[in-house]
Parts: sequence; C-alpha cells; structure tokens
Amino acid sequence: MRCAGKLRARGVPATSSLAKGCARAQFRHRDVSVQAAQKKGGRGGGGQGQQKSPFLKKRLRLRKSSDGVSHLGSSLKSRGNRPFPGPPKGQGPPLRVLPIGGLGEIGMNCMLIGHEDRYIMLDAGLMFPDFAEIGMQKVLPDTSFLHQWKDLIEAVVITHGHEDHIGALAWVVPGLDPATPIYATKFVMNLVERRMKEYNLWQPHRFKTFEVGSKFPVGPFELESFRVTHSIPDCIGCILRSESGTIVHTGDWRIEEKPVDGDEFDRATLEKIGQEGATLLMSDSTNVLSPGRTTSESDVGVALANRMAQHHGKGRIIATQFASNINRLGMLKKAADACGRKLAFAGPSIAQYLDACNKAGRAPFDPSELLDIEEAIEGYDSNKLVIVTTGSQAEPRAALNLAAFGASPFLKIQPEDLILYSAKVIPGNESRVMKMMNNLAGYGCEIAMGRGENLHTSGHAYQEEQKEILKMVNPDNFLPVHGEYAFLQHHANMAEQECGIRNTNVIRNGQMIGFGAKRNGKQVGDLGSLSKVVGNVKLFSFYNDGGKGTGTSEQMQLYERIKIAQEGIVFTNVEVKNRVQGPPAQARGKTRASRQREVPTGIQVNLRITARALWIDEGRLISEMNRFVKTRLRDMPVTSSLNEIEKVVSEELRRCCKSHNNKRPEVIVMAHDAGVGGMSSGSGGASRGGRRSSPASQGGGRAAAAQGGGQRGQRLAQGGRQSRENPRENPPSGNKLSKEEVDRIEWP
Ligand SMILES: [Zn+2]
Ligand SMILES: [Zn+2]
Repeated sequence: MRCAGKLRARGVPATSSLAKGCARAQFRHRDVSVQAAQKKGGRGGGGQGQQKSPFLKKRLRLRKSSDGVSHLGSSLKSRGNRPFPGPPKGQGPPLRVLPIGGLGEIGMNCMLIGHEDRYIMLDAGLMFPDFAEIGMQKVLPDTSFLHQWKDLIEAVVITHGHEDHIGALAWVVPGLDPATPIYATKFVMNLVERRMKEYNLWQPHRFKTFEVGSKFPVGPFELESFRVTHSIPDCIGCILRSESGTIVHTGDWRIEEKPVDGDEFDRATLEKIGQEGATLLMSDSTNVLSPGRTTSESDVGVALANRMAQHHGKGRIIATQFASNINRLGMLKKAADACGRKLAFAGPSIAQYLDACNKAGRAPFDPSELLDIEEAIEGYDSNKLVIVTTGSQAEPRAALNLAAFGASPFLKIQPEDLILYSAKVIPGNESRVMKMMNNLAGYGCEIAMGRGENLHTSGHAYQEEQKEILKMVNPDNFLPVHGEYAFLQHHANMAEQECGIRNTNVIRNGQMIGFGAKRNGKQVGDLGSLSKVVGNVKLFSFYNDGGKGTGTSEQMQLYERIKIAQEGIVFTNVEVKNRVQGPPAQARGKTRASRQREVPTGIQVNLRITARALWIDEGRLISEMNRFVKTRLRDMPVTSSLNEIEKVVSEELRRCCKSHNNKRPEVIVMAHDAGVGGMSSGSGGASRGGRRSSPASQGGGRAAAAQGGGQRGQRLAQGGRQSRENPRENPPSGNKLSKEEVDRIEWP
C-alpha cells in the first residue's frame, strides 16, 4: 500500500546544507557512547529477543523450497561405492586433510579434517556456475561421497556466512548422520537457520552456536575459534588441537586495522599459536596476486560520504553492494546520515542479512530507520533518499539489473540519479555487468565506480597481510586453500621464499594429505615434520537447477543443454501410412535374395518436423529436411521396422542440417503407424534414432520408445487417446497395400 501522507507524518529531516568535505568531518565523528554500547553487545537498535522492526517483517517472507527431501534429487545416491582415500584403519600419519571443494576454484569450500580415523567437516559451501544460461544455479560439493562416509564425520564447523561456505548445507546436512552437530557463531547461525527452514531441515538441537574465542571439543579435536575480519560479520578462524599436533585454518580473512564494528582481527591468538607451534596452517589464497595491503572499510565509508555530498541537491542516490556486506551497509547509513538522506532497500536479500545481524545483536543501525521502498519512491524527497539495491553482479532478477533494463515494477532510473557501485565485478561477470552499466548510463544518470573512486575494498588479504600471518604462525607445514590452482601455487612459493616456511604443499580436491605426529612438542613416527599425500578419490560436482533438480553433470544433462544451445534441436513425428506389419505364414521358407526381390519399397509418410534453437532459413531448411527424408524413404522396403525408419529419418535430418547450415543438431524422431498414436495423441514416445545418448540422458518415455516396434505400437496405442487397442482390427484407410500384395511379401 502506498501512503505519501503517512511518510510525511513520520517526520522528514530538515534539508542539510552540506558542502563538499563537510560530510567527511561529520563521518569521522564516532559517538563514544554508541561504541561502548556496542562493546556490551547492544549494537544498533537490534538485539537478541528484540521485536522485529515492522520494515523487516514486511520484507522477510520465507519461501518454502522443499519438504526436506524433495530438493535432494540424486545428490545422495551412491556414485559407485568409492573407498575412503585415507590409509588403512589405524595406520598412516595421524593428522589428515581431505579437501572436497574450494582448492583449484573459488567457491564450494568444504573439507574434512581428521585425527586418525575421526573427521570433522569445515564449511559446506556452493559455487555459482559460469553457465547459468543453461539453467544451472548452484554447484555443490560431492554430497554423495560425504553421505557414503557419514559415519566418519563427527561434526560440521562453519567459519562464516558467505554462500561459498554455507550454501550447500541444505544438501549436505540430510546426508550426514542425524546426530551430527553443526556449529556456527550466532549471526552465521541465523543465516543458516533461515536456509534450513526454507528447505524444512531446521532441527534446533543439532545446530549449536558458540562465542568467538571459546574453546570446546569437536570430534577428535579441541576447537578454539579466533576472530578474523572479512566482508561479513562474525568470521572465525579455527585452531584444532589434538594429541598429535595443532592445525590452524584461517577461514576467509583480511586484516582490518580500523574495524567499523569494533571487532578486531585477533593477532594475539595467532601470535600465541606461533609460540606454541602449529603442525599445519591453511590460509586464504584469493588475493595472493595483489601486492600490498587491503584498505580499510572506514576509508570506503569516507569515499561514499564524499560522493554523496557531491550529489547534494541533485537527486536520488542508488547504491549497490554485496547484500551480505553489513559493515558496508553501516557505512552507507553513516554517509547517508551525514548527508541528510535516508535508506530504503530494493531487493529482499539485504533485508535478510540485516535481520540476521539484528537478531544477533550486531546490526549497525536500527532497521526501523529504513524507509519502505515503494512509499519512498512514490512520495519521498529525491534529495533525501539513498536506495540500496542488490544486483552488483547484474544477477538477472536483482533490483538494479531489472531497473537497468526498465523491467523493475517500482524502480525507474532517472537522469538525476547517482549510481554508487560499492562492490567489485567478480571475474566471469564482466560482460553482463558492463551491459547493465551501459543501460544505466543510457538513462543519463551519473555513475561512480572503479578503483579510483575507492568505493570498495576486498574482504580477502593481500600479499603483505598473508606474509604477516605466515610469519606469525610459522607452522611446520603450510597448505594454501581458497583459490584457483595458480593462486595456491603462488601462495606456497611466497610462503617458502619470503616467509621461511620449509614445507609447503599444493593439493587438489579429492587428495588426502597427512602430516607427521608430534607428542609433547617432539616429532614422532616415520614422517617427522613432513607431509605426504596418502590417498586420492575421484569427486563429482553436483548441480542444482534452482528448483528441485539436483544431480551430476550427466544427470542434469549439461552436455545436451550446451549442445542444444550451440547446435539446435529437431523433433520429427513420422506417421507411416503403408507399413506392413507381421509376417504372413505362407511367406516363410524362401531365399534371402528372393525375399528382397519380392518386398515392395517406398515408405509413404506424413512428416511433421519442428526445429528449435536453429536457423531455419525462413522455412527453407524444413522443406529441405522433408525432401531429404521422403527421398530416402522411397527406397525403404515397406516391411521396415519403426526403429529402422527412425534411424534412417534421423540420419537424413542430420545430413540435411550439415549440408544446409553446417550444424549438427540434437535429433529426436518418433515414428508410428498411421492411426497409432503420434504427437497429437500425447503418447510422448520418441527415439533419438541412433544418436549418442546414455540411459541417464533419456527421459522415461524415450527410453521406453527404444524398445521393439511391436511393444511400441502397443504402448502408443495405450497412451494415445485417438488410437485403438489393436490396430489390425481397424486399419487406417488409404495408401495401404492390398491383401494380395501383403501375401506376396517374403518376411525376414
Ligand atoms: Zn567469505
Ligand atoms: Zn569464501
């Protein structure tokens, strides 16, 4: 409901007269009392148990995506009973790491970390595919393998709330033992809870929260978490202690020197570990190619405030950022406050993250201060408005992208708008982001983006930060994680050459690496302080189509999808008018040559050819295909089986497309005798006519259609409304052989 009157009644702030630079001064002023309140856990207007703001209530409708099982598809089905890749039970190096995802790629972080034969899982993330165009929305780690070996996995620990660390939980958790606990900090658990409820998988007793810095037993380890700074609140690194040594995993991190939420990177704990001695350090490699150090979030805040101040009195500001970057949202709010503007959200995901943060008592401001987007656009003063949108990566359904293409029902871009691009373009998204920005620019609005604007800082450490941590922990072994294979290699080289780490390892997903044991600070066993790859398993990726379809690339028919997009698809219904069925008794016993001589040729058909995703040359290709098929069928004996006819028709269709278009489309041919089923009958029996295909790539109806012609006729007859129980009792009229002709035929 839109109500401009109600808006005015809320009290619109007086117009501020900020000159350039004034915003900066106001922005740097930090209210000491607020900081103190934050330290006590009373940050912003939120807090655990506090009433949800009416704004959030309106924006947070939970959409149910599953009954708890139906979204799993084939993700838990066995992929060939693969052996666990570790050494035989009770043997081999005691400390082990098996990456399931995240090594050699950015995303899908998931690994097993073990002591002897007991393991915990660290993170269960997804990856967004590069090829969303063919209908895939999520790539998941090998849930089938994790399910097969669920008895070895005693707990799951989540380092932080990014999708590449929690996004696969709805597929991973159902595959684990029902008693396996999942640990996360409060804010992260709020995000997890929402996802689990969406998939009907929330079991409060299994999902356990912990405080950053606390110590507790997890599987075979004692876990101590330590705070790291990143681009989402409440991120931890893990220290996993065991009698055989200590493993440190940083999670995703960078060092924020001036944390805007007051949460500092925990250098002290890492220094302590350095003195204690760590067997293994695993650290984030995302930005290993970037020299220097990351800039501070508060510097980004200053840049945002300055840019907003420059637009004073000129119109609306539309900011886009990663929805999960709550500290950035806090910076936008501060900048907006300094410039006398109010925030409104376009797109529900920012509200979801803010709500999770609010419930954990960590929201940077009270969500009730937000304007309702539709009311704000309708009736609020443009000069006092900042619209925060999703869509920094031009995601097809995100608010900014829809607005750029004029498809948003409420957000229409105006020439007076300033677009603040407070994010980075993720590699792979460049062309679609540029398309979006081009469209936005087409409206005549001003756009602020790019390195020089300083409107974004990365959440992942640059080289100098990485070196600092490597030197601080000074582990016996270093294993770079979270990055492309080249990044891992570079990180390992840097650790060896510049930080004095003696033993570095670069492994891939599916390779288990073991580390030598320590007892009372001394190395014991054959391996000493070294590491060794002790096993290997072939892992699969699973794909989800955004709905309930989940399976391997083969099961999701990725090859076929790409093939159809590139080459097109041709579907042909062949109604055979004069085929002769069933061998008459009197025809038996003659020679092959005489049989062939006596069988009349010339299959007559009605053809219906349909092509999709293919250039049909204004219909000429269809005519050509008709001609090719009919010409070839003229030479076919009337006794040919439907399978033979389908094979020949698909050969001709492919030959025709090759010669006319130089294309090799997928070809589906369905032949049937006149009056026995067909496309119009809804029987759905089609064959690929000899095309390369696997059982998994055929639909149920198609697989059935590959059976013999007699069975086909019967099945089609049962399935088709217009068809008959027994075609012989009531044969179709016209174009059929006379009884004498049939009697002359020699049947093979
Ligand atoms: Zn992250
Ligand atoms: Zn990550």
